[in-house]
Amino acid sequence: MSPIRRFFVIGNWKMNVDTAAVDTIINTMTSTTLDPNTEVVVGCPSCYLSYARHHLPSNFGVAAQNCYKVSRGNFSGEISAEMIRDCGCEWVILGHPERRTIFSETDDLIREKVTHALDAGMKVVACVVETAEDRKTGNTRETLFTQMNALAAAITDWSRVVLAFEALWASGTGVLATPGQVQEVLAELRQWLKDNVSNSVANNTRIIYAGSVSSANCQELARLRDLDGFLVGSAALKPDIVDIINARCYNLSTITSKSEVADITGLRNTYVSKPNLKPAIADIIQTLYSHVSALSHTPRHIQDRQV
Ligand code: PEP
Repeated sequence: MSPIRRFFVIGNWKMNVDTAAVDTIINTMTSTTLDPNTEVVVGCPSCYLSYARHHLPSNFGVAAQNCYKVSRGNFSGEISAEMIRDCGCEWVILGHPERRTIFSETDDLIREKVTHALDAGMKVVACVVETAEDRKTGNTRETLFTQMNALAAAITDWSRVVLAFEALWASGTGVLATPGQVQEVLAELRQWLKDNVSNSVANNTRIIYAGSVSSANCQELARLRDLDGFLVGSAALKPDIVDIINARCYNLSTITSKSEVADITGLRNTYVSKPNLKPAIADIIQTLYSHVSALSHTPRHIQDRQV
C-alpha cells in the first residue's frame, strides 16, 4: 500500500462477452459509486474496443488483451498498438498467462511486443506468471526473474507500465493463494526492481495480483503492503467487480467518525513537514491519511456496507 501508487483494477473480459454482456457490465460499474482513488481499466476483446470506449465514461481505461510487435503488415488475425490507439484506447495487456501457455508466447516475443507498444505510446499491463509446477519445484523466483529480465529489457518508461503477477495455480483451480503467499512474491518482485532497475522504479511501479480475486478475498488482499491492485478474470464479468474496485474503501471500517478523520488529518499535517521524519514513517502516515480522506469522501451508502 503506498500513497504514491494509485490502486489499479483491471477487469479482463477475455473471450467471454458479447455486446449485451458489455452493456450489462458497463451498467453495473457506472450505476454505483466507485472509489475515486481506484484507477479502473477493462480488458476488452479487440472487436469491442471502440464500442467499450464509446460507452464507458472517460475515467475508465480500456485495454486490448494483446497486440503484435509491429505497426502493420501481413499478419492475419493480429492487431497493432496503433490500431488500438485508433480505437481510442490507451492500454494493452501483454504476456498474459493464457498467451504464454495456450498460445506459446515466449519471453522474447513478449519483450518485442512490449517494446513496440511502449514506442507506440501505449500503457502496458505486463504479466509475469507462476505455474503450479514452479511452486511445486521451488522455481518461482527463477521463473519470475527470467520473465522480469525480458520485460525490463523492453521497458524504457516504467511510468506507463503496471506489473501483474499471476499465480496461475490459483486461477480457476479452486485453490486460493493465501495473502502471505501473495505478499511474499510481490515483495520479491519489488526487490527485483530495486536491485535491477532503480529504487525509484521499485517504489513507484504498481504491482498487481491476479488469481481468482473475488469480492470474498479482495479486502484482505488489498491490505498487503506491496499490492497495488488486481487483474481480475471471472469476477470481472459479475457485480463482484464493484466490491473489488472498492476493496480499499472497506478496509477502514473502524474509522468513520468525523473526529477520527480530523485526528488523522492533524497527525499527517503535523508530521509530514518534520525534516527528520523517516521516509518509512512518512509513508505510513500518508497512506493512512489517503485512506481516511478517501473514506470521508466515500458516499454514505458505501460506508454503510462496511458495518
Ligand atoms: C486472469 O487470468 O486474467 C485472471 C486473473 O483470471 P481469474 O481472476 O478468473 O483467476
